[in-house]
Amino acid sequence: MSLEKCCTNNSGPALEQEEKSREDGRVVLKERMNAIKNKIVVLSGKGGVGKSTVAVNLATSLSLAGKRVGLLDADIHGPSIPKLLNLEGRRPEIRERTIVPVEFENMKVMSIGFLLDGKDSAVIWRGPMKMGVIEQFLRDVDWGELDYLLIDCPPGTGDEPLSVMQLIANVTGAVIVTTPQEIALADVRKSVNFCRQLNVPILGIVENMSGFVCPECGEVTEIFKSGGGEQLAVDMDVPFLGKIPIDQKMVEAGDNGTPFIRTYSSTETAKAFGRVARPILEKDLNENRLDPVNTSIQEEIKTMKIAIPLADGRLAMHFGHCEQFALIDVDTERKEITGNTLETPPPHEPGLLPKWLHEQGANIIIAGGMGSRAQSLFQQNGIEVVVGAASDEPEKIVTAYLEGTLEAGANTCDH
Ligand code: ADP
Repeated sequence: MSLEKCCTNNSGPALEQEEKSREDGRVVLKERMNAIKNKIVVLSGKGGVGKSTVAVNLATSLSLAGKRVGLLDADIHGPSIPKLLNLEGRRPEIRERTIVPVEFENMKVMSIGFLLDGKDSAVIWRGPMKMGVIEQFLRDVDWGELDYLLIDCPPGTGDEPLSVMQLIANVTGAVIVTTPQEIALADVRKSVNFCRQLNVPILGIVENMSGFVCPECGEVTEIFKSGGGEQLAVDMDVPFLGKIPIDQKMVEAGDNGTPFIRTYSSTETAKAFGRVARPILEKDLNENRLDPVNTSIQEEIKTMKIAIPLADGRLAMHFGHCEQFALIDVDTERKEITGNTLETPPPHEPGLLPKWLHEQGANIIIAGGMGSRAQSLFQQNGIEVVVGAASDEPEKIVTAYLEGTLEAGANTCDH
């Protein structure tokens, strides 16, 4: 038999077989991903900005809010999730062709760190191998049905985040973590453009290590310049999810392997994480419904004040045109209105209303439309912003909000 004939005879069926198993693999991957409602990638322009810390706390926040959550550590060069959750040394069980993820409280966790011999082991990955291992983690891990899979990608815009986004055809969105300094921000612009090129929606930017929490009194001081991430979000027209201060307890929590927001749930830093998680929780409701206050962090706050901008006694569709504010006190546990006052705001000057409403004790503002700059200013003043509500009487809006039946339409004034 000639060599040519021999090779042809052998490679034909072998190639067909290979192509078939690749096709089968693609079907399994698609089914696996279809069972997960929201697939969220956590990215950063550079290392050390707290991306994994944000991923762990975000995942915990969603899990504490009663969601089914998976956390995939796709940082195959420097997996840190096993350390952050005190899961080092754990081994996932392999059943037939599936990998059973490691359980942490109610979360399903997978990391290459579980498969390495020691925490200091280094693996030399070639490009196709990286793609292969990430594909296996998405396809062969028994994630089951999940509300959220958070994927902690390695920093930058290299092979691994690219593989993740290519393998999951419909990534729900990306959370981009940065520190406020210009050096980190330059890289964030690349991450934003990377997502845009791949048509991955950007859920928002988180500015981590923004300000410093005094270990004695808990007050946040701006030791370095802060607000860079927020400004960048405005400049690049992407949502800003919030600032997380430098908190010494965060390092302790990371070293002890306990998620910060679980151990220190009543601190200002944990509340900042709650604010970051909130729009993502709302995203899960997909069907244009706004989430009532239901994260565990917010459950602690049993009373709140909700502000509604009014024109002619009804919600003002254009925020800038409002004449008065209804300030409605609510009991979030009993889902009841406990008080209601009308206040006339100071003249509309940039930045004045968020401060004034903060002084009035408002925790949430429900508006028809509001520009992204104004939204950021409210968030900066610790006020959650809900936009897209229709014009109605303020009590009706608040009741619907508390019951989780408030319909969110388009932001009617997003300039
Ligand atoms: P990345 O994933 O971006 O490389 P990590 O999440 O591993 O970063 O965080 C790097 C270090 O910074 C860790 O020791 C972590 O505990 C610490 N860290 C992250 N965010 C904060 C914060 N807000 N306050 C204090 N320390 C933080």
